[in-house]
Amino acid sequence: MKSPYQGLKAVIATKHQKEKLVQRPFARGLGLEMVVPEHLDTDVLGTFTGEIPRPGTMDEVIVKKAKMGMEATGLSMGVASEGSFGPHPYIGFIAGDIEFLAFVDNERDFVLIERYITPKTNFAHTEANSIETIHDFLKNVGFPQHGLIVKPKQSELSTELYKGIGDYQALQKIILHSATLSPEGLAHIETDMRAHMNPLRQRAIRKVAFRLVRRLQTPCPLCQLPGWGLVGTEKGLPCESCGAPTEMVNQEVFGCVKCEYKETYPRADGLKTAKTCQCQCCNP
Ligand SMILES: [Zn+2]
Ligand SMILES: [Zn+2]
Repeated sequence: MKSPYQGLKAVIATKHQKEKLVQRPFARGLGLEMVVPEHLDTDVLGTFTGEIPRPGTMDEVIVKKAKMGMEATGLSMGVASEGSFGPHPYIGFIAGDIEFLAFVDNERDFVLIERYITPKTNFAHTEANSIETIHDFLKNVGFPQHGLIVKPKQSELSTELYKGIGDYQALQKIILHSATLSPEGLAHIETDMRAHMNPLRQRAIRKVAFRLVRRLQTPCPLCQLPGWGLVGTEKGLPCESCGAPTEMVNQEVFGCVKCEYKETYPRADGLKTAKTCQCQCCNP
């Protein structure tokens, strides 16, 4: 099927060179060209380092961001991305990265948000008064290929914040300086999660871009709008011993970005039954 986006342009609202990550999948998969607006301060929608808090949920923020880009350029389609880092939502104690990518299409009047969850992130922080004590930390977070942010620990001086640190000499200097400004004599050192400073995150953004493009390649069987794909799951996978429904996912629900049409399929991984230990009847 021919892409409805062939030869068209969409704006990507980014200050952190995310266009480099999403340009290719959108161009190859859809024939859609990405344009970066020249003057756009997406920091009004919050920053990673927390100097400006983010208004609303992640979904609301990225849609707002995409629309800012569309307003700035007059284009009717826009893309925006955000990442969320912290304890992995399923594995818990391991750090995880959830990447969100929104596609706003005013021409066809829909918004599509795709997500990608991965435990492959270097999200971490530590404290130190010298580079000598944090060699393991630096190795684990992939420094200097991955950037760092340093500030004085427990200091009100929010201006004393250094982002995008990418070499040992600068890091040592900034740690020593930050430590002298901290009431505890320590520098707070954290991974810089901005896309252009973080190759692991770049990989995750590329993945979510491919997923979004795949959905935009898939038309709704009923109304033919692009964006058909997985929209939810239904629990109730039968127990292997007694057949009673369990809390495990039984079916995957596919839906349209706009119309109400849905189709339900068995789990993509082919699992037909749940283990007895998952069953409330056999194993209450
Ligand atoms: Zn539809
Ligand atoms: Zn059972």
